[in-house]
Amino acid sequence: VLSTMQDVPLTVTRILEHGALVHGDSQITTWTGEAEPHRRSFREAGARANQLAHALRDDLGVTGDERVATLMWNNAEHVEAYYAIPSMGAVLHTLNLRLPAEQLVFIVNHAADRVVIANGSLLPLLAPLLPQLPTVEHVVVSGPGDRSVLDGAGVRVHDYEELIAGKPTVYDWPEIDERQAAAMCYTSGTTGDPKGVVYSHRSIYLHSMQVNMAQSMGLTDRDTTLVVVPQFHVNAWGLPHATFMSGINMLMPDRFLQPAPLAEMIESERPTHAAAVPTIWQGLLAELTAKPRDVSSLTQVTIGGSACPPSLMAAFDELGMHVCHAWGMTETSPLGTIARPPAHAVGTDEEFAYRLTQGRFPAGVEARLTGPGGERLPWDGESAGELEVRGPWIAGAYYGGSDGEPLRPADKFSEDGWLKTGDVGTISPDGFLTLTDRAKDVIKSGGEWISSVDLENALMSHPDVTEAAVVAVPDEKWGERPLATVVLKEGSTADFESLRAFLADEGKIAKWQLPERWSIVEAVPKTSVGKFDKKVIRKRYAEGALD
Ligand code: ADP
Repeated sequence: VLSTMQDVPLTVTRILEHGALVHGDSQITTWTGEAEPHRRSFREAGARANQLAHALRDDLGVTGDERVATLMWNNAEHVEAYYAIPSMGAVLHTLNLRLPAEQLVFIVNHAADRVVIANGSLLPLLAPLLPQLPTVEHVVVSGPGDRSVLDGAGVRVHDYEELIAGKPTVYDWPEIDERQAAAMCYTSGTTGDPKGVVYSHRSIYLHSMQVNMAQSMGLTDRDTTLVVVPQFHVNAWGLPHATFMSGINMLMPDRFLQPAPLAEMIESERPTHAAAVPTIWQGLLAELTAKPRDVSSLTQVTIGGSACPPSLMAAFDELGMHVCHAWGMTETSPLGTIARPPAHAVGTDEEFAYRLTQGRFPAGVEARLTGPGGERLPWDGESAGELEVRGPWIAGAYYGGSDGEPLRPADKFSEDGWLKTGDVGTISPDGFLTLTDRAKDVIKSGGEWISSVDLENALMSHPDVTEAAVVAVPDEKWGERPLATVVLKEGSTADFESLRAFLADEGKIAKWQLPERWSIVEAVPKTSVGKFDKKVIRKRYAEGALD
């Protein structure tokens, strides 16, 4: 029997038209550093996305599934690009502006971007790369910044506003197959060369619905979300799409990502929700401790990208900001799990422990654990193995280049097509994931595994420790041992002995796991998306740069 339902493709175009029409009054507010932020309604942004599509097609000749890159902060124009490019059938390619130059060059060449839409403030970063980017013909510049740095760079330079001015505000969007590519994002390369993940219209649509479910972020048009997670970091975790689906207002920080302006925009614009990696929140916490502000509007904070330290969650709870922990990857769009405690645990002693897990799998994400010998492990909350996932918004391959076949490296995909996440952990019988480490960060000491995350969390619960990163270093006797690098609060007199005693106290950490190598550092090195960069720590240690 054939279904009798309409077969309407799930496309980004549908999300755009719905948001602009049904939620036309919802706002995108962009921080400018001036007295007044910039405000634009979904209706206006939608109309401008239509204009941008006209400009890209009629003036810049964008056709087919060409990749169009953005090198932008989080702002209203970036949202417009998010909708214009996929809706016209092209592929939005967000560039991570914090990547080292050689990786950016690799990525732009690999995707063969011909057009780059860039914020003016980022031109000094783009200009020196252009000689190595032969495919780039057009740079469209939006927002303040000195355009003259592009003089003589061999590209045609356009002003975003001039380009779209006067263009029709209605575009005859093509009928798109929902399986067609809509956007792409390269993994940030903490694990080797960047690899391109290509999202489909369908995967984006379904993922956005999941983000909006009550068991996920569950926001509505009464909310304003402060989107700190960059639009180049896995589509800002789906927020620019989820917001248009439900009319959720967006507060965009643009380039003002330091703790002080973030505190200021929370106080004055009163968002109800925010999303970012833990390091951003550690910074904000220090800022609010030094200079308290009224942040009472912000009651929900989504934290992911790395494990949320328990001390951070507890401190935020005190401030009335309820943290919801989530796990995901570039390959998972990114929402893979989210830690809403089960009903029976709410209001009990168990609640906090549930919130500290990476969270529960939503209906769209199937999961399994694989042991070292390839065996399936039970969901018993104890058996630890590598997490594998599959689902309609999970990658099944990487982009192979414009003429190449998609890549399915055997260390990333199982023979039956599941994504091997490289994350090690347990799953409870009720479907909550607890990650103990990344496979490559686990410390293998004398045949036993030490979780670097457990050591870091225990250290960060010390009142004098602001950040702690633990890595494996070679050891003659044990194979590997932990090296703890610690950032201390200003004026602290804590030393290694006292930190070690703190870890040993109350059996927080088993004695054989206690680090004997320590280094006090000014800051933990961070990756392009604000995670602890353990590669750099290991390298510094090997070079003798850490005492
Ligand atoms: P990269 O691999 O370059 O860091 P991603 O942003 O895709 O790029 O990172 C995904 C990885 O981040 C996951 O595989 C996992 O190791 C880590 N991660 C994400 N969220 C969490 C979390 N809540 N807890 C612990 N680790 C996390």
